[in-house]
Amino acid sequence: MKGLTENPIFQMACQQFDAAADHLQIPQGERERTKWPKRLITVTVPVQMDTGETKVFYGYRVQHHLTLGPTKGGLRFHPAVDIGEVAALAMWMSWKCALVGLPYGGAKGGITCDPNKLSVGETERLTRRYTMEMIPFIGSHVDVMAPDMGTNEQTMAWMMDTYSAQVGRAEPSIVTGKPVSIGGSLGRRESTGRGVSFLADRAADILKLPNDSRVIIQGFGNVGSVAAYSLAKYGNKIIGVGDRSGAIYNAGGLNIVTLHAHFQTHGTLEGYSEGDFITNDDLLIQECEILVPAALERVITEKNAGKLKCRILAEGANGPTTPAADAILRQRDDVYIIPDILCNAGGVIVSYFEWVQDLQNFFWSEVEVFDKLYRILTHSFDQVLKEAKVRKVDHRTAALSLGIQKVVEAKKIRGLFP
Ligand code: NAD
Repeated sequence: MKGLTENPIFQMACQQFDAAADHLQIPQGERERTKWPKRLITVTVPVQMDTGETKVFYGYRVQHHLTLGPTKGGLRFHPAVDIGEVAALAMWMSWKCALVGLPYGGAKGGITCDPNKLSVGETERLTRRYTMEMIPFIGSHVDVMAPDMGTNEQTMAWMMDTYSAQVGRAEPSIVTGKPVSIGGSLGRRESTGRGVSFLADRAADILKLPNDSRVIIQGFGNVGSVAAYSLAKYGNKIIGVGDRSGAIYNAGGLNIVTLHAHFQTHGTLEGYSEGDFITNDDLLIQECEILVPAALERVITEKNAGKLKCRILAEGANGPTTPAADAILRQRDDVYIIPDILCNAGGVIVSYFEWVQDLQNFFWSEVEVFDKLYRILTHSFDQVLKEAKVRKVDHRTAALSLGIQKVVEAKKIRGLFP
C-alpha cells in the first residue's frame, strides 16, 4: 500500500503492532490479515467559501476492521491530516475498542483543513458535504463517527442532520458526541478527560504519590481542559498547560478557572498574566508528577524522552510517544506509562453508551454513565497491569497485545470467506 506505508505515523502504528504481534507469536498470515485496514476512502469535498470562490478539500475515512461490529472512530479537522495519519488512528481505535471490550472495529476520518481559518458557515458547508460524500460508506450499523481534534458537538449535529435528511428520518445513532438535546449522552463531552484523570489518579495511588501532585498538560481542548479540571478536583496542582500558541507555566500552580476564561475570551493561552509563557517543547520537560500529552501525535520522541521529569505519563492524545522514545523510557524505568489506547478510552466507551442509548431510545443519568465508565476502565487497567506482570512486558505492549489478541481470535473463529 504505497503512500500509506511511507507515512511516519502509520509506520509508527505498524511498528507497535509488529512488536505486540512478535510478543504474541501471531503467524504471518493472521498477522497480515489483522494489521492492514479493510477500507480506505478518499474523497474530494468542494465547498463554497464566504468569498464566493469554490475550494476543494481532501477528506478521508479509514475503516480498519469489520469483524466485531460496526467501525467506530473520530473525525479530525487539522492541516496535517492525511491518509497515513488517519489509517494509524483507525488501527489504534481497533486495539482500543477490543481492549475495553466494545463490539466495534476501529475507524478514523479527517479533512485536511485549518478549522481556525474557516468561518462557521464554511465549517458547516464542509462538514455537510463531507457527510454527503461518506453516505455510501457509513450507517448506524456500519460506521459511526465522533468528534476528535478540531471537531465538536456542533460538527456532529450537522452530520446527524445531513444524514437524517437523506434517509428521511431522524437517525441519532449515526454519530456520537452530539448535543444531549438531539440524542447525545450525558457525560460524553467530559468522558475522555475524566477517564484520563481517573486512571492517572489510580496510578498515583499505586506509586504512592502525594495527593497534591504537580500536573502538566499539553493541549487545552476537549481532552486537556477537562483533564485539567478533573485532576485539580482530585487535589492535584496544575502547574503547566500548553496549546498550539505555546504554554503557560507557574510552579506555584495555575488557576484553571481564570486560565479557561482567558482562553475562551482570546482563543489562545498567550497573554495570560499569571504564569510564564514558554514553548511546548520546554513544557514537556518541566518537573512534575503527572504529564498529560493531550494534543498531537509524536510529541515524546528520542529527543526529549531522556529529559522527561515526570513519574506518570498519562497519554490523553493518540500516539503521543514514538517507538524510539518508548525504548528510552523502558531503559529509564522511572516513568509509569498509561498507554493511549487505555488512557483515553473513556471517550469511545461513553460513545458506545451513547450509541446503545440511541438504538434503544432509553437514556441514562450522568451517574449511571460515569459509574459504568469507571467500572470498565478499572477492569481494563487491572487487566493491562496483570498482563504486563505475567508476561514481563511494558504497559503499552501489554495493552496492545490484549486488544490485538481479541481481534485475531475473532477473525480466526469467524473463518475466511470464501
Ligand atoms: P481539540 O481540538 O479539542 O484540542 C486540541 C488541543 O491541542 C488544542 O488545545 C490545540 O490548541 C492543541 N494543539 C494543536 N496543535 C498543537 C501543537 N502543535 N502543539 C501543542 N498543542 C497543540 O482536540 P481533543 O478532542 O481534545 O483531542 C486531543 C487529542 O486527544 C487528540 O490526539 C485526539 O485524537 C485524542 N482523543 C480525543 C478524544 C475525544 O473524545 N475528543 C478521545 C480520545 C482521544
